Amino acid sequence: MTFTAQILTLYPEMFPGPLGFSLAGRALEEGRWSCAPIPIRDFATDRHKSVDDTPAGGGAGMVLRADVLARAVDHALERAPDAPLIAMTPRGKPLIQRHVRELAAGPGLSILCGRFEGFDQRLFDARQIEEISIGDYVLSGGEIGAFALLDACIRLLPGVMGAASSGEEESFEDGLLEYPHYTRPQLWEGRTIPEVLRSGDHARIAAWRKTQAEAITRSRRPDLWERHRGAPDPPPSGARRETKKD
Ligand code: SAH
Repeated sequence: MTFTAQILTLYPEMFPGPLGFSLAGRALEEGRWSCAPIPIRDFATDRHKSVDDTPAGGGAGMVLRADVLARAVDHALERAPDAPLIAMTPRGKPLIQRHVRELAAGPGLSILCGRFEGFDQRLFDARQIEEISIGDYVLSGGEIGAFALLDACIRLLPGVMGAASSGEEESFEDGLLEYPHYTRPQLWEGRTIPEVLRSGDHARIAAWRKTQAEAITRSRRPDLWERHRGAPDPPPSGARRETKKD
């Protein structure tokens, strides 16, 4: 099944952009996902093809018009009725890996990218739209957020990553940040690879990685660490979890 990405944007020529390379690019060529930008400007009806206007109540910048956006959104819904409709907004729900996994398991996404000051509120009142933020900072447009969201989903699609398990061992998958990696050369600028990783003892390696992941999470992200400690034990599936003793 092809994961359909519809991107509603004022800059359709930006896509697939960075998603045309590497893992996502190969997956696109293989038909594992499809990239369908929808130009918002096509849904403007006046002579000037205007998509925005000045903010009611005054203030700086321009606001994207509800009527134009609704026509674009309705078109996207018609073409992909089952794909969740998502707007990139700084006030949206912060994106986390669990949500990425849920979205990647679905039929695709229709992503609405803002520009200027953002969207006329009435669009959200009149249509079922989920708002997602990619972090507590302000971008100049939703397209970079859409790249981030799509990239995170695409790498989880079946057949996209090499080893079937490689998605599960990573940062956030079990609520922890990832342990450190090493590769050849074994000696670099006087630094060696930790002995345990060269031991071939898989149980010891797993225990070392778990300890490292816990220490890194505790020191860098106390918020994640608290949640990890408070969470019930995950079900005993997957090699990593089987090594979990507490
Ligand atoms: N006036 C808005 C910011 C608009 S930025 C505010 O203060 O909240 C223009 C567009 O960039 C937004 O409509 C949104 O689509 C996108 N954008 C900016 N920051 C974002 C973020 N952190 N996450 C997701 N989208 C973002």
